[in-house]
Amino acid sequence: MNIEIKTIGCRQNQYESAVLRNIFISENPFNLHGDVIIINGCSVTSKATRDTRKIIRKAKSEGKNIVVTGCLADKTIIEDKDILFINNATKHKLIYGQSNYYQPALSRPLISVETGCDEFCSYCIVPYLRGKPIIRDKNDIEKEIEFLISKGFFEFVLTGTNIAIAIKTILRILDWAEKKHNDLVFRLSSLDPAVIKDNIEIFTRGNVAHTAHLSLQSLSDDTLKEMKRRHTVKDIYQIIEELLRIDPLFAIGGDLILGFPTEGKREFEETKKNIINLPVSYLHIFEYSPREGTLAGLYKNKFSNRTIKEHTRELHKIIDGKKREFKKKNIGNTLRSTLLGNNIALTTNYLNVKIPSTHTSGNIVNIKIEGIKEEELYGKIT
Ligand code: SF4
Repeated sequence: MNIEIKTIGCRQNQYESAVLRNIFISENPFNLHGDVIIINGCSVTSKATRDTRKIIRKAKSEGKNIVVTGCLADKTIIEDKDILFINNATKHKLIYGQSNYYQPALSRPLISVETGCDEFCSYCIVPYLRGKPIIRDKNDIEKEIEFLISKGFFEFVLTGTNIAIAIKTILRILDWAEKKHNDLVFRLSSLDPAVIKDNIEIFTRGNVAHTAHLSLQSLSDDTLKEMKRRHTVKDIYQIIEELLRIDPLFAIGGDLILGFPTEGKREFEETKKNIINLPVSYLHIFEYSPREGTLAGLYKNKFSNRTIKEHTRELHKIIDGKKREFKKKNIGNTLRSTLLGNNIALTTNYLNVKIPSTHTSGNIVNIKIEGIKEEELYGKIT
């Protein structure tokens, strides 16, 4: 059986794709033969759904055996008899009840600590698609990490649908790793500010990278309330202040949604002002995409698509300036880093640094950042 995998969407999907490939090769649970394409799709935005459907159409025209999985609530796909559809419940049974031993596609393997979410933010379709959270067994995760260490990996990205749900498990894994392997680095993927504000101490641990990716979504309190988020702008200021107290070079970024239906001129200006004021080092902006079945899917937009695009451009300019500022702030400092290959090291605070010679990818080293040339930082191993 030849397996091709196409992944659309989040890190969680990337993790699941790597594991599914291994399960299909070693166990062939659906008894497939020939050329098989596994399409791990996404429905979080309308664009992601369109992209998934495009890949499915192409695979059909090429006569491949098609397996579709991931967050898809699309009946026309599910009812297609030519496609083997693995729903999230079946996929979760395959992946989450055990340790997974697989060859990761990245130099920093993703490790899922949980899947699912029951927070029901008003814009989000994920709780309807992935269902209630399943937190993985700590021992399964540890065995998976041990396996990956034996394959030469030292840095891991703990991921999930909403990993803050699994904060207790994460803390226990960090404790275990500290005692058993003192040379590992863990990076935490997107964090819910409502949970992290009471768990900042996680970032004082020696084995946690100094990068915090916060699921901000808005920097206007009224919009956050309509989104049914559980944090305020004040919480964000407090979290950032505490992180910078731990390390003045902490990389702090996150996700923002622009064009949420109740976001008007005042709310947008508030968000903009807070971005200018906050010492963030980067932000990812997503334009709001209404999802049928969610509460916000019933609301009418205040802004046209054109205005939302203008706002996005406006904020990108501010964010680009902040990214540049952050890079410069790091020059002259020595930072713990992971070698990524191709003469690039990734610092604990998520900066790519060009280094002169090739070393074994995956190793942890100290890098002195010496300067910046055409937006690219360069430095050397010390
Ligand atoms: S916490 Fe995240 S995954 Fe859960 S409903 Fe809110 S946005 Fe969706």
